[in-house]
Amino acid sequence: MVFCHKCGTDLPEGAKFCYKCGALQGPPSPNEFSVASEDLVRTVKNLIHEGNVRKIIVRDDQGRTLLELPVTAGVVGAVLAPWLAAVGAIAALVSHCTISVERKEG
Ligand SMILES: [Zn+2]
Repeated sequence: MVFCHKCGTDLPEGAKFCYKCGALQGPPSPNEFSVASEDLVRTVKNLIHEGNVRKIIVRDDQGRTLLELPVTAGVVGAVLAPWLAAVGAIAALVSHCTISVERKEG
């Protein structure tokens, strides 16, 4: 028996999403995690500075993509500020979101 970690709904074995609240299920993957909106900007900044991140995708609780941030060497410089502003705007709209990270191979 599997229960949604967020709302406690009974879920079929192996369910990836809760059909009731939409929360992601399963063991937390290091490439996908949930953050509170007040931590969103800081988390995105930290990921960019990890250096092996290729893309950061921010989703809401329903799994809708809010922002796709392609991380290239250039993003760390002057281009970063408008992206962080966009991330900050998202943080103001939602209380919680999911971040998916694509990392470089190797
Ligand atoms: Zn649920």
